[in-house]
Amino acid sequence: MYEHHIVNPATEEHLATVPDATPRDVDAAVARAAAAQRAWAALAPGDRARQLRRFAAAVDAHLEELALLEVAEAGHPIGNARWEAGNVRDLLDYAAGGAERLNGAQIPVAGGLNVTFHEPLGVVAVIAPWNFPLPIAGWGLAPALAAGNAVLLKPAETTPLTALRLAELALAAGLPEGLFQVLPGAGPVVGGALVEHPGVAKVVFTGSTAVGKQIMASCAERVKRVTLELGGKSPNIVFADADVEAAAAAAPGSFLDNTGQDCCARSRILVQRTVYDRFMELLEPAVKAFAVGDPTDPATRMGPLISAAHRERVRSYVPESAPAAIRGEAPAGKGFWYPATVLEGAPDDRVATEEIFGPIAVVIPFEDEADAVRIADATDYGLSGSIWTRDIGRALRVSRAVSAGNLSVNSHSSVRYWTPFGGFKQSGLGRELGPDALTAFTDTKNVFISTEEPK
Ligand code: NAD
Repeated sequence: MYEHHIVNPATEEHLATVPDATPRDVDAAVARAAAAQRAWAALAPGDRARQLRRFAAAVDAHLEELALLEVAEAGHPIGNARWEAGNVRDLLDYAAGGAERLNGAQIPVAGGLNVTFHEPLGVVAVIAPWNFPLPIAGWGLAPALAAGNAVLLKPAETTPLTALRLAELALAAGLPEGLFQVLPGAGPVVGGALVEHPGVAKVVFTGSTAVGKQIMASCAERVKRVTLELGGKSPNIVFADADVEAAAAAAPGSFLDNTGQDCCARSRILVQRTVYDRFMELLEPAVKAFAVGDPTDPATRMGPLISAAHRERVRSYVPESAPAAIRGEAPAGKGFWYPATVLEGAPDDRVATEEIFGPIAVVIPFEDEADAVRIADATDYGLSGSIWTRDIGRALRVSRAVSAGNLSVNSHSSVRYWTPFGGFKQSGLGRELGPDALTAFTDTKNVFISTEEPK
C-alpha cells in the first residue's frame, strides 16, 4: 500500500501518515457518489440549502481547529489560516443561498412555452493544490454541492489533512454518506484515475499550468467539462502619480504572503522610472519589516516554503548566496525557510517570466503607460495584477488593457467569494466564485412545451 508522510514545514515534525487511495477505491467512490448524487439532486432546493448551512455552521464551530491544521500541514501564519477557514464557511453559506436561486429562464416563443433548467452534472472531481488547501477545496466543493452534484476531492500529496477533516465535518453535519468524499494520493494515480473515469462529469483543477494542460487534453477525450485555475506571474504596476509610499508599504504583502506560494502573487513590480529610486528606498525597510518565523505566532506574516523539494526548486532560480537588491532574514535550523528576496531585472529575464512560487520579486522600470501595459502582458500568464495611480482615467484604461482576470487598483486584493475569479491566457479556463459559480456545475437544458390544440 502506498502512503504519504505529512510533515510540518516549519518544524519538519511528522504529523500523520495518510494512505493513498487506490484506483479501485476511486471506482468505488464514484459509484457511491453517483448514488448519493441522485438523491441529493432530487431534494427540494431549500432542503439542500439547509443542509449546506448546517455544514457551514459545523465549519464555523471548528474554525480554530481547521486553521491550526492548515498551520501545521501548510506552514501558513495563523492569521492567514483563520481567514482561509472562514472563507470555506462563508462560501458554503453563500452557495447554500444559490441553491434556492438557481433559476432557469422562460423565453418567449410562438406556439408554446419555452423554459430552461440548470441540471446538475453528476459527480464532480475537485483536484486541489497544496498552496491553499482549505479555500481551494471549498471553491469547488460548495457551489458543486449547492447545484446538486456530488464531489470527490483529491487533495495535494503534502496537504490532505484539512480536506479529510472537512469531509468528517460534512458527515457529522448530516450531509448524505458518499456525497462528498476525499481521495488522497499521488496526482497522476488518484487524480489521473478521476480525470479518466467515465463516471466523473467534470474536473475542477487548480495547480500548475503543465498539469492543467495534460488534464484538459485528457478531458477532451470524453468532452468532459473542465475548469482550470493555473499559474500566474502577476504585475504590480506603480505609476509616478501614485501614492508611492502606500504602494511601497503594500508591495511586500503582495509577493510575500503565503511565502510567495500564491497564484496571484505580484512577483513582477513595474515602477515608472521617474519614481524608481524613491520606490526602492521605501521598499527595502518594508520588506525587512515583514515578520518571518513561527506560523503559530499571530504576529508572523511569512512562514516556510511547503517542502525541502520545493525550496530546492526556488533556490534553482535564486540561490540564497546570489546577489539581490533586497534580502530579508530567514530562520536557521529546522524548517523549509527561504528569505524574502528582491531582484532588479528586465522583462524577459527567466525570473521575470516563469512562476517561481517563492518569496521572490523582480523590479522592472518602465517609461510610460504603453510601456507598462506591454511589460505587464509579456508573459503567457494572466491571472491577476495591481495598478497604483491617483488618475482614475489611467486606472480604468490600464485595467481594461491588461490581459488578466483579476485586477485591483491601489490594492492587492484578489479574492472575494462573491466576485468571479479566474485567469486569462495560460492562467486558466472558466471562473470560480461569484454569482455564476453554481451554473458552472450545471448543463443548461431547454424544454419547449407545445400549447397548440391537437388537430
Ligand atoms: P500541481 O499541478 O503539481 O498539483 C496540483 C494538484 O494536481 C495536486 O493535487 C496533484 O496531486 C494533482 N496532480 C498532479 N499531477 C496530476 C495528474 N497527472 N493528473 C491529475 N492530477 C494531478 O500544482 P501544485 O504544485 O500543487 O500547486 C501549485 C500551482 O497551482 C501553481 O502553479 C499555482 O499558481 C497554481 N495555483 C493556481 C490557482 C488559481 O486559482 N489560478 C490557485 C492556487 C494555485
